[in-house]
Amino acid sequence: MSQETLSGWVRKLQAREISSRELTRLYLDRIERLDPQLNSFITVTAESALAQAEAADARLANGEQTPLLGVPVAQKDIFCTEGVRTSCGSRMLDPFVSPYNATVVERMNAAGAVMLGKTNMDEFAMGSSNETSFYGPVRNPWDTERVPGGSSGGSAAAVGARLVPGATGTDTGGSIRQPAAFCGITGLKPTYGRVSRYGMIAFASSLDQGGPMAVTAEDCGLMLNAMAGFDERDSTSVERPAEDFTAGLNQDLTGLRIGLPKEFFGEGLDEKVRGVIDAAVEVLKGRGAEIREVSLPNSHLSVPAYYVVAPAECSSNLARFDGVRYGHRCDNPEDLMDLYTRSRGEGFGDEVKRRIMVGTYVLSAGYYDAYYLKAQKVRRIIADDFRNAFEDVDVLLGPTTPELPFALGAKADPVSMYLSDIYTIAANLAGLPAMSLPAGEIDGLPVGLQLIGNYFDEARLLGVAHQYQQETDWHTRVPAAFA
Ligand code: GLN
Repeated sequence: MSQETLSGWVRKLQAREISSRELTRLYLDRIERLDPQLNSFITVTAESALAQAEAADARLANGEQTPLLGVPVAQKDIFCTEGVRTSCGSRMLDPFVSPYNATVVERMNAAGAVMLGKTNMDEFAMGSSNETSFYGPVRNPWDTERVPGGSSGGSAAAVGARLVPGATGTDTGGSIRQPAAFCGITGLKPTYGRVSRYGMIAFASSLDQGGPMAVTAEDCGLMLNAMAGFDERDSTSVERPAEDFTAGLNQDLTGLRIGLPKEFFGEGLDEKVRGVIDAAVEVLKGRGAEIREVSLPNSHLSVPAYYVVAPAECSSNLARFDGVRYGHRCDNPEDLMDLYTRSRGEGFGDEVKRRIMVGTYVLSAGYYDAYYLKAQKVRRIIADDFRNAFEDVDVLLGPTTPELPFALGAKADPVSMYLSDIYTIAANLAGLPAMSLPAGEIDGLPVGLQLIGNYFDEARLLGVAHQYQQETDWHTRVPAAFA
């Protein structure tokens, strides 16, 4: 039963083969029974979920057909949820109960989704392994000694283990795609501006973008239908006509030009991962796609540029958590300075502090030009590389990550952790849509295939992914312990 996809459940709910209440119970039971092995949820909202399910059943009985009516989902704990703790994986916000809903949450509620709870994540979305969470690490359902990826690792592990059919994530440098790859699920980072950031706690505002994580491309399209759209409360939200992201799923791939950026296949890529990607290329060729080699000559600069821009923005965004306006306040401060330093010292974990320090440094008067301005220029030439590539091809394809899910504790040095996102970060710097989908298995661990599209070309990406998923069954596989 729990193997059904989100779209499958939508059909069954509409056909009245199951009620939302039964479905919600089914997944709540799985969470209760299985999540102790994974730690993928920070908060489970069983009571309000059942109330939402009952409301959905009443609407279903009335013949309503909103896109997610009655389907259980989970929200990454970076999205503000009214009346529910919103921690962002940090001690800083541990007791915070949001007085309002993020736009994404509001829209998914309006579409009829039932929220089962809030998923675990790296603290303030900084990390690639979920080990920086105040609530402890999340474990990978394929091997619980390994990490699920990050920062949306709770959402990825929960969907991978089928504790929920779909969940939201956010992706600043790879945090939807890398955990999707590590947990064997499908995840999409939309074009910057497609999904509102209102009520999504800010890490690096010019890079952050929310998106869907689910079993199939079709499921991601359905979720995106509910999530996307203009929001006047987010100044970077883009106004465009509404689109149905599931409408083009059945388009065949004849004549589609797929580019393989040669820089994504160089040194550092695990040979076995490469083999999986090569095999996926053959599948797409078989469906009529044309393959070309392309070059993104500046992609080696994406990680260094990102680790200037993202910390700079985070140092500014996180300044508000000072124990006065927002966040944890220390006990018995001696004076104002003591209040600030101890509240922030106690509230933030090491990785967040490291980024705040780097960010403050690169924005300081003497270094602004040398680091921050320089990184912004690099960002531009990275975006230009993509623009050139998309003159010759429709979609770019490569691995999502250079290696397989690694063991908990394996990457103690921050730079080796940062390199986990070597293939994902460039799309964030350029603002492009990109996704990861399961494309193989090595030693019992899933491998992700990445597709990057031109601006606002999510429907095409989902179409390519759907065609691939018609031909393959990697996305249907569930780790044995959770089947
Ligand atoms: N792993 C990257 C980082 O630590 C990306 C995180 C993200 O996309 N939120 O910054």
